[in-house]
Amino acid sequence: LISFKNFTFKYNAQSEPTLKDINLIIEKGQKVLIIGPSGCGKSTLGHCLNGIIPNIYQGDKSGDFFIGGKDAFDLSVYDKSHLVSTVLQDPDGQFIGLTVAEDLAFALENDCVEQDDMVKRVTNWAEKLDLLDLLNHRPQDLSGGQKQRVSLAGVLIDESPILLLDEPLANLDPKSGQDIIDLVDKIHREEKTTTIIIEHRLEDVLYRH
Ligand code: ADP
Ligand code: MG
Repeated sequence: LISFKNFTFKYNAQSEPTLKDINLIIEKGQKVLIIGPSGCGKSTLGHCLNGIIPNIYQGDKSGDFFIGGKDAFDLSVYDKSHLVSTVLQDPDGQFIGLTVAEDLAFALENDCVEQDDMVKRVTNWAEKLDLLDLLNHRPQDLSGGQKQRVSLAGVLIDESPILLLDEPLANLDPKSGQDIIDLVDKIHREEKTTTIIIEHRLEDVLYRH
């Protein structure tokens, strides 16, 4: 599904490449952990996956990087949005709706999904992520762990084939972190979504397979 071959990327603002000779193959349905010290280029790899690079941050690349058989740098942000869903460490920056329900519905509204179908899908994902009781709450009023569950539901709802999480545990206490890892594991088993987790909290992330 995803393949990097001798892939090197240098930001325009940098004199040296941030990613050097990356060789990585991720098969459909795999769950992969990307780990490494701060500043080593994990988020840069994530930006390549979700299209932030080269659509927002530009630079020079060499080698190959394909997603689903297509040169990933040729895909637009729009194409990428249907391929890769991203959850970041700071859930507050990801909320759009005034209530949890509205926030979950956002992607569906953009895709002009019929109202009946929208209500069904919001209810379904709220149930999977244990958010049914919170649907009318403001996202800002939730705990850190609840916020990350809303972020997850908000990106899972459009059922993209690849789920990318960039340090999803960074703002969570250990217990909430483990709960999120548990949920990601459950969703991976149920939906078979290709899942890429970038984390440096090894002990929490290894709480599940
Ligand atoms: P990590 O996520 O592993 O902590 P990053 O991918 O965020 O690492 O950063 C790796 C390196 O890339 C850093 O040296 C950082 O300064 C550089 N970098 C990150 N984003 C940009 C950018 N938008 N422009 C130029 N350099 C960047
Ligand atoms: Mg990072």
